[in-house]
Amino acid sequence: MTNQSVDCGCDQIIQPLLSTNEALETLTKAAISTNQVEMVKLDGALNRILACDVRSSINVPGFDNSAMDGYAINLKEDQINTPGGFAFEIVDRIPAGSTGNELSPGCAARIFTGAPIPKEANTVIMQEECELIENDTKIEIYRPISLNENIRPMGNDIASGDIILDKGHRLKPQDIALAASVGVETLRVFQRIKVGVFFTGDELVKPGCELKPGQIYNSNRYALVAMLNNLNCDIINLNTIKDTLKDTTDALASLKDSCDLIMTTGGVSVGEEDHVKPAVESLGELNLWRIKMKPGKPLAFGKVGNTAFIGLPGNPVSAMVTFLLFARPFIKKLQGCTHYLNTSYKVAANFDWHRSKPRREFVRVQLDQSSIPAKANQYPKQGSEVLSSMAWADGLAEIKEKTTFKQGEIINFYPLNEMMS
Ligand code: AMP
Ligand code: MG
Repeated sequence: MTNQSVDCGCDQIIQPLLSTNEALETLTKAAISTNQVEMVKLDGALNRILACDVRSSINVPGFDNSAMDGYAINLKEDQINTPGGFAFEIVDRIPAGSTGNELSPGCAARIFTGAPIPKEANTVIMQEECELIENDTKIEIYRPISLNENIRPMGNDIASGDIILDKGHRLKPQDIALAASVGVETLRVFQRIKVGVFFTGDELVKPGCELKPGQIYNSNRYALVAMLNNLNCDIINLNTIKDTLKDTTDALASLKDSCDLIMTTGGVSVGEEDHVKPAVESLGELNLWRIKMKPGKPLAFGKVGNTAFIGLPGNPVSAMVTFLLFARPFIKKLQGCTHYLNTSYKVAANFDWHRSKPRREFVRVQLDQSSIPAKANQYPKQGSEVLSSMAWADGLAEIKEKTTFKQGEIINFYPLNEMMS
């Protein structure tokens, strides 16, 4: 816990209307990466962020070895690239994990994939191309043979001293395998960040309970916890709190000293039932942004004590979309990730955009991959409360503000499967 996770500059900026780019830039600029590190074993390293470069102290492979099951041969000079029809006496057998003896000219060693090439062998012929003759004591090969066939040279993958993984990299299974391949047993990673969460709204009910009139189930709690788990955060969850200024302030106060970030959903508008703003302000500072985007106009950003605070909107689609577009890059930067921004891809809109809108829209779309570029089809209901649109969608299509276009327009697409991992 750094307790120094944000420099929100709240005293200088009170910006009521922000573009999505401005909001993202302000947020990510404000995120101060953690400097707390720990060592983890490889099995515990998945999705952790490397706190230093990883260098290899060995060559991989560490020795020239066979790429095939076959025969290693010491070809004589006059046998190289000539029409073939040569016989070689089998004098050795080298399974993976053992070493063979030096081969004399004109001799062969039975060899298996991954086994070291014996001294003086200069090529390997796969077994399917060799005919065993004279009671299996010799092989004959009926094609021209070149030097260095099927030999994987030492250091072909990694040379000793190479940086194999960079600081700030989020570890995926292939990275963990790569570290293992050079004999690294533990990795230095940044400590997980602690995120405190609670949810405002007296209408909210826990799934499994019966709904009374006017009540709804608390879906944001599950969305937020799952998305934070995806990002490998430590979560302190206070669940739903009563919608009063005192309860909101108490919840913030109880989290502020033990968290790097506090997140809430709902209550960030300026209605009289919205207590997040005054509560945060009583303990720190807050900017209440109206971002020119749909879904998800209101987003609160500030600090409670020295702990960063992000208040997401209450509407479920808005909460998820603002989390993915703004909170996720912010959190990844706090975690020490070098590549914290979302990646977009180009797709073709499979719809017309008739009316120019003042706000940028993030439309829930499915991709039809049967053509190039893929075509994006909209979910028919795009309301910020229509959670089915998120479950249906492959991703978010970005429609810039003040634009109109015809079907076929190339637009940015943010895949959910990438942002939800
Ligand atoms: P608010 O920002 O608190 O005014 O909430 C906006 C809308 O989102 C209202 O319709 C709320 O009922 C709904 N909402 C707020 N919090 C949640 C939640 N945790 N789960 C589902 N819907 C919510
Ligand atoms: Mg509310």
